[in-house]
Amino acid sequence: MPAKRDYYEVLGVAKSASADEIKRAYRKAAAANHPDRNPGDDEAVDRFKEAAEAYDVLSNDDKRQLYDRLGHDAFSRGGGGGRGPTAGFQDLEEIFGAFGGVFEGLFGGAQRGGGGRGGPRASKGDSLRCRIQLELKEAAFGCSKTVEVDRDELCEDCKGSGAKAGSSPVKCDYCGGRGQVIQQQAFFRIQTTCPACKGAGEVVREKCGSCSGSGRKSKRARLDVRVPAGVEDGMQLCLRGEGDPGDRGGPRGDLYCELHIKPHPLFERDGSNLHCTVPISFTQAALGTSFEIPLLDGKHVLEIPPGTQPGDVLKIARQGMPHYQTQRKGDVLVEVQVEIPRKLGPRQEELIRELAELEHKNVSSHQKSFLEKLKSLFVASDESEEQP
Ligand SMILES: [Zn+2]
Ligand SMILES: [Zn+2]
Repeated sequence: MPAKRDYYEVLGVAKSASADEIKRAYRKAAAANHPDRNPGDDEAVDRFKEAAEAYDVLSNDDKRQLYDRLGHDAFSRGGGGGRGPTAGFQDLEEIFGAFGGVFEGLFGGAQRGGGGRGGPRASKGDSLRCRIQLELKEAAFGCSKTVEVDRDELCEDCKGSGAKAGSSPVKCDYCGGRGQVIQQQAFFRIQTTCPACKGAGEVVREKCGSCSGSGRKSKRARLDVRVPAGVEDGMQLCLRGEGDPGDRGGPRGDLYCELHIKPHPLFERDGSNLHCTVPISFTQAALGTSFEIPLLDGKHVLEIPPGTQPGDVLKIARQGMPHYQTQRKGDVLVEVQVEIPRKLGPRQEELIRELAELEHKNVSSHQKSFLEKLKSLFVASDESEEQP
């Protein structure tokens, strides 16, 4: 596509041309290139369009000033011909729209009462947050908690209007009650929230003494929250419609309760499984034992079989946490930690020394498999490990 021609050049006038000269030049060009006079001549059609575009800009003082300053960039992003002033107009609106404040400062002069779309709209209230602390047991079985939250309530004296008893808010005359104003300068219009009434469309002349005209009062609300079984740390429960009231009759916002589960002295949670570590003596590990382990709900007698190894994990099935959606329960996984005595009495030492002497002659199965593992490191073979 050829470079876009200068609008003054298109109309064949000087940059200093008067409005009249521009009009005459356009009429001449339009007449000469009118499609009716030039049937089948595409170039004439292009010239006709080009002249119309040039005239559209140069015949309007504001557009012309902008064009004089910025050239074709004023009407199209990325240069290149083919885009009419209409497309450029939209681009500008986008560009300036993003800098509403700057735009307002530059051009000022809000057009009062400029027809916005519809009246002020009701808006949803703010959402609020709170925290709920839970014991692991409460998370496992679900519970009900009372939360206290400071939230706004509509002022009872003015029913939320903010106006003194006997008076009522009046239509905002800055925006004519629309809540929106149109900024009109040059050839673009931008709609913004009315600065006088902040979008409400009405203003309070005589303020309600009870709420100082805000229409709201902060109140502490106590709410019962049902916490379902299986919730996890960091999850949020959303209580619809328990936040701040909306503006202009809009719905209340929501209340988000963030759940925090306190650490448990015995169990560590991993999804729906619960892990714990149980220390036993090496004689208990060797000979086997059983003991009672406290669960979240009740107790369980855990059997430690003879020959239990350090790090062995014993499973208590279906005694873990329920999944919060499926309610399917996980397991309790008990890791066995074998403790070696730090101090021995004379009799204990005597017995262990005797045991050691015995082991010199008869290597224990555990020791044996360890030696075999060592051996297999030196023998380049892929013998499978022998389990005792
Ligand atoms: Zn009030
Ligand atoms: Zn207003």
